[in-house]
Amino acid sequence: MCLVFGQKKVVVIDPGHGGIDSGAVGVNGTYEKDVVLKVAKAILKLNNSLIDNELDIYLTRYTDTLISLSDRSRLAKSLKADVFVSLHCNASRNNSRGIEVYVHNSKNKKSIALGVSVLNESTQKLGFEKRGVKFANFQVLRETISYCPSVLVEMGFMTSIDEADYFLKPKNIKAIALAFLIGIMDYLNTG
Ligand SMILES: [Zn+2]
Repeated sequence: MCLVFGQKKVVVIDPGHGGIDSGAVGVNGTYEKDVVLKVAKAILKLNNSLIDNELDIYLTRYTDTLISLSDRSRLAKSLKADVFVSLHCNASRNNSRGIEVYVHNSKNKKSIALGVSVLNESTQKLGFEKRGVKFANFQVLRETISYCPSVLVEMGFMTSIDEADYFLKPKNIKAIALAFLIGIMDYLNTG
């Protein structure tokens, strides 16, 4: 798997929430904002250690701070991102489980292909239930879609004890980060 020609592809990973906005609170007391930051940083690390920085990856935040949604999408624009991937964890009142990926309502074909690639890699390799690619008018998707393919990944439910606990283990953080990285690479190599 390698991108032989041209410049490095620019990937913007957006760990959702941060600072005073904790996002969903897990049944085990963990915060969505911390889980998504850990996974984002693990993607950054794997790009370096595993594929020799083949991708140019930037995070919208590197620490526990709250960044506005429009600043997140502005970063994708100013970096001329090739893909934008926002990371979130889900929550529900019933016993929902699994991973789902959101693409903007405009149903941009490249974004759907990116979403399918990321979803397949993470569900097939890690055993998460596949909830599918869905469409929504989320602000980060709406504001990035005119610049680059963009997706928002809901990577498991903080309200499921199994899935919230999954993210407690560093090796699981690394595994899901690897699945996302491969999903992104596969999309960039075929798209
Ligand atoms: Zn969220």
